[in-house]
Amino acid sequence: MVRQASSEDEVYDILFDMLKKKSGIVQVVVIKKGYNDKNMTVFKAMDMEKLKTIENKVTTEQNCWAVKTGNEFVYNGNSDDFNCKEFHRESVSYLCIPIVLGGIVSGVVQIQSDKKDFFTDSMITEIKVYIDSITPVISNLRLLESLNNMASVDTLTKVYNRRYLEKYLEEQIEISKENNLHLSVIMLDIDFFKRFNDIYGHDAGDYVLMHFADTLKFNVRESDVVSRYGGEEFVVVLPGTDLHGAYTVAEKLRKKVEDMSLTAISNEAPPKITCSLGISSYPIHGNNIDKLIQSADKALYKAKNSGRNRTCIFGETSPCPSFFM
Ligand code: GH3
Ligand code: MG
Ligand code: MG
Repeated sequence: MVRQASSEDEVYDILFDMLKKKSGIVQVVVIKKGYNDKNMTVFKAMDMEKLKTIENKVTTEQNCWAVKTGNEFVYNGNSDDFNCKEFHRESVSYLCIPIVLGGIVSGVVQIQSDKKDFFTDSMITEIKVYIDSITPVISNLRLLESLNNMASVDTLTKVYNRRYLEKYLEEQIEISKENNLHLSVIMLDIDFFKRFNDIYGHDAGDYVLMHFADTLKFNVRESDVVSRYGGEEFVVVLPGTDLHGAYTVAEKLRKKVEDMSLTAISNEAPPKITCSLGISSYPIHGNNIDKLIQSADKALYKAKNSGRNRTCIFGETSPCPSFFM
């Protein structure tokens, strides 16, 4: 069953089910260690109700014997035993087993009992067999997750790649249909980028692409998705945003790009980078991904032909960017 689990959450649920069968175990808490800091926080518990008191508790690995030593830590409720007092409240005795993934302690499973002297040597051995059976599965699931992330993210700019964008946009169009929501797409393309590469070199071009992608990412909402569609072409998806809102965002991005401060590449003043933008919106410009992307692309083409460094909206005949002015 553990091997068939598709998430860490599921793996721990199976562990809880196994431990629940042992009378005397009243709570199991999974505490995870952060990737970048030394904080330890509760990830999941067998009895979520009882967890309420410690749910938001944070401690550091310095306070956790099991993490520090990489070995199990047991407290059997005897007054002269060392009691670390972290993460447990009502239990009489508890056992903490570190989760070791690839030689690194990544968290702790704390098993609590309402009985004194519950964790005998044979009980500890038995529980450790369970933990040993889940760690390789968790390890693989984490690896899989990081591979999936790699497959969705562009290596140079660290924004989503085209593959992810297409999957995401398709899902978002469905969600917009079901909930009667607007959705807009902005397609952006850097102006005269070939010339920039020719003058300053490909490495400088790569640097601009990274800076450009950061500028887009930092100037849209958390819920908006920025992706590199190809070469120097990017797509931003704005769920729940109508044409008017999208135009405001597009113009903000255009100005932020214009104001981007690039470090001087040679002795001359740093070059100015501009981009052109095309907008399409669901439902007025189409109800599928092909139509929306094509429409945004056509609007972008018009922005290029009308002099670049401007935003055009699909289907608007008036000169860009007068639509909402
Ligand atoms: P326009 O204003 O019409 O968009 O002109 P442009 O020169 O930007 O357009 P064109 O499509 O002719 O050229 C795109 C250039 O983008 C070609 C290529 O040199 C550059 N480019 C594409 N991908 C990369 C990349 O990963 N790194 C760098 N440095 N340049 C790239
Ligand atoms: Mg270009
Ligand atoms: Mg292009």
